[in-house]
Amino acid sequence: MAWGLLFFGSLYLGFGAAMWFVTRKLLPALGIGRVLDPRPVRAGQLREELTQSGVSVLIFGLGMVFPWGLLQLGWAKFAVDPSGWRIAAEIVVLAIWNDVHFWINHRLLHTRPLRRFHGPHHRSMVCTPFSTYSFHPIEAAMLGNVILPPMVVHDFSFWALASVPVFSLFFNAIGHANYDFFTRVSYSHWFAASRRHHLHHACHSGNYGFQFTFMDRLFGTRLAGDAADVQLATFRARQQRMDTAAASSHAPLA
Ligand SMILES: [Zn+2]
Ligand SMILES: [Zn+2]
Repeated sequence: MAWGLLFFGSLYLGFGAAMWFVTRKLLPALGIGRVLDPRPVRAGQLREELTQSGVSVLIFGLGMVFPWGLLQLGWAKFAVDPSGWRIAAEIVVLAIWNDVHFWINHRLLHTRPLRRFHGPHHRSMVCTPFSTYSFHPIEAAMLGNVILPPMVVHDFSFWALASVPVFSLFFNAIGHANYDFFTRVSYSHWFAASRRHHLHHACHSGNYGFQFTFMDRLFGTRLAGDAADVQLATFRARQQRMDTAAASSHAPLA
């Protein structure tokens, strides 16, 4: 469990800090990509995200007792001496499963009885790379059990299972980066995941999937690519009016 805490804690802070640097400094300096939501983050948001994520790291770390328990009880086993191909194939299967699991839990978290447990995540209307683990403890427990069902139905390799939180947090940091990395790809492209999740936060519903779009397509929960255009245009117009007013109040009298 101590290893679990260290693992999840360093993943969260490492990916968060790296994504912050890449999207706030590196890519803008290189003129690559663009910021998605121009609105400022709420005062105190970052502190709140770090605190809530700290609790999630604790839950994920302590939750390692469950896969360990499955192994101790003999209800799950690791693959013995798996080949590289097998590990790669298992990672692909787990990446698809991760999207199915996330869509189901995320959709449930948007239902009336459970939505209060999802509210803390949505307090970040404009996301940051540190919004990734910013969950209510119930949401953290729901999302944190992702590897348990696959473990009982198949003997996965240790490395394939260990890759799940790594690729999951990598995709998550991209999804919450509030940055469009590939402006030329279509809205439904795998590389446009940050556009889709930014819209989920701006509109508070729809686009419940994670990295892929197949679950939202299947259940008809995709948001239109321009779903937040009106609210963002309203913000920009207001900003422009305030800038004009500030400029005229500072103009020297003729
Ligand atoms: Zn949501
Ligand atoms: Zn989110």
